[in-house]
Amino acid sequence: MTWTNTSDRALRARAEAVIPGGMYGHQSVMLLPDDYPQFFSRGSGPYLWDADGNRYIDYLCGYGPSLFGYGVEAIDQAYVRRMSQGDTLTGPAEVMVELAEAFTAQVTHADWAMFCKNGTDATTMALMVARNHTQKKTIVRARGAYHGAAPWCTPLSLGVTTEDRANQIFYDYNDVESLEAAVAAAGSDLAAIFASPIKHDTFVDQERPTTAYATRARELCDEHGALLIVDDVRAGFRLARDCSWSLVGVQPDLSTWGKAIANGHPISALLGSEKARGAAAFVYVTGSYWFSAAPMAAALETLKHIRETDYLETNLALGKRLRSGLDEAAGRHGFALRQTGPEELPLIMFEEDADMAKGYFWCNALIRRGVYFHPWHNMFFSAAMTEADIDFTLEVADESFKLLKAAGPLEPVAKLQMAHHAIHSIQPL
Ligand SMILES: *Cc1c(COP(=O)(O)O)cnc(C)c1O
Repeated sequence: MTWTNTSDRALRARAEAVIPGGMYGHQSVMLLPDDYPQFFSRGSGPYLWDADGNRYIDYLCGYGPSLFGYGVEAIDQAYVRRMSQGDTLTGPAEVMVELAEAFTAQVTHADWAMFCKNGTDATTMALMVARNHTQKKTIVRARGAYHGAAPWCTPLSLGVTTEDRANQIFYDYNDVESLEAAVAAAGSDLAAIFASPIKHDTFVDQERPTTAYATRARELCDEHGALLIVDDVRAGFRLARDCSWSLVGVQPDLSTWGKAIANGHPISALLGSEKARGAAAFVYVTGSYWFSAAPMAAALETLKHIRETDYLETNLALGKRLRSGLDEAAGRHGFALRQTGPEELPLIMFEEDADMAKGYFWCNALIRRGVYFHPWHNMFFSAAMTEADIDFTLEVADESFKLLKAAGPLEPVAKLQMAHHAIHSIQPL
């Protein structure tokens, strides 16, 4: 079947009239290469079909939620079974307690759990719990790290006031001196250090945490009576069957979870240690759908899959196969890739491509051949992918390198340049 986008273009025209900007947030394809589809019709296993029926091997996995692939029967059946008994009732069902028991058994530092809908709910709640626990205001967090889209943390400043951003001091990820300087600047007012489990910022090389940095963050919190928060919303259960910082031997006081924890069903969580229990019990946090039972049933089944399958080892093996295969293919055509981050959460960019023209051209060629990559956001694997999917990806990648080479010198990506100017004309807070 040849690749077409007529249905997608028609849907975009309709959306333009009734959805501001045609689409918003991370789901807008405005900043992606030209042929990226905006609308999708279905997903199954590792595959995604767009509105025109083109199939893609999906390396975005719903931007994280699809850990075992789309439409995993056992997980979706747990959801449907619970739906048939009642989902959003006047109060929670037994499954909420079962899920809190399962999470506290699974995650070493956790003695309690609270559930919500989005990662932003969990990170905002973590901030409130830390401030209530310490009776202090200042949050220290890494420059460029994403923690959600509430006014205190959304990446752009439109619609946000200086007051919304008050009481925050920034450090550079993995830079112990800058972390120490930020903590010193907080003086006697430190409530928490927020840490991403890995550096998974957009547009830049990814980094695992150094042991020195993670350990120092723990020590500084202990010295100041502050709480250490690991924001595992994106990386949670993708690097370990525990909090991601278990890999560097550091236990946080609070950790935030979302995305993959119910394989695509809407639920997120704040987990905490004994120390923070009292503070968590009294902050007023809630939401109409936070107690819905069906996503909890799906999460419980997802945790069972996390415990009982080799998904983690599968995803790592697939990630390694893709990384080495891509390096080899790039080399054959005279290109060099920057493949950074853990193999399971790769970010792939080109060397000598400051304006991203190569990356955009190459990703666009991949899309037209059935592979959904991202030019500047980390990607994901689902355990539904097979070696054959990786090998197909490598064939398509090879062909796309060939086209890139034949294309010769490229113009800078106009839409990125425009976005860059627009972002820098926004008043920083
Ligand atoms: C996605 C994400 C969030 C926000 O989660 P939402 O469900 O989109 O609100 C917070 N932190 C990290 C690290 C994320 O990747």
